[in-house]
Amino acid sequence: MGRQFSTGRAAGTRIVTVLAALVIASCGSSTASVDEPDFAVRDVAVVIRSEEPFTRASDFPARVESTLDAALEYWGGSWDHLAGRSITFEGSQTVACGTHAGAFGCFDGNIRLTTRDPAFAFSCVEQTVLVHEVGHAVIGDASHEDPRWMDFGAVMARLDGRRGYAAEGEADCRLFVSVWQHPPDRR
Ligand SMILES: [Zn+2]
Repeated sequence: MGRQFSTGRAAGTRIVTVLAALVIASCGSSTASVDEPDFAVRDVAVVIRSEEPFTRASDFPARVESTLDAALEYWGGSWDHLAGRSITFEGSQTVACGTHAGAFGCFDGNIRLTTRDPAFAFSCVEQTVLVHEVGHAVIGDASHEDPRWMDFGAVMARLDGRRGYAAEGEADCRLFVSVWQHPPDRR
């Protein structure tokens, strides 16, 4: 009898543990609408909610990492600035960002960005506004006062000339600093 009793207690304890884990999990998902990451780069969770071919290419994780590395160097940051954050690649044309509904990218502690440009199809991660959003993660500066928001020559030199992906296969990956640039906001 004593043995059966202790087995029952053990089972009861296990149920309590499982319930506690469920409560913790639901708290986590209610504070941020971040999906399960598709992969991680260093300590950065990457979520893909896009069908663009470059997000499905086998080199995507490595391309995200090297793009982040170039952006961090440009902004004088380190991987610590991105540790524990997430980057979500959205298939929609724009992402909501605070009170601004039509943004191409957003940094609000995590990064969300569109994988589509209004004028042409992005064929690689380097073409997106990721380099810009990393700037907010490193220096903040929401009103774009820093002169580096209008430069990006060093990032261009480092990332230009890579392979791009289109629905039909390989494409070029021409970069445009205008995608990353932002003049100082008017007050
Ligand atoms: Zn910005």
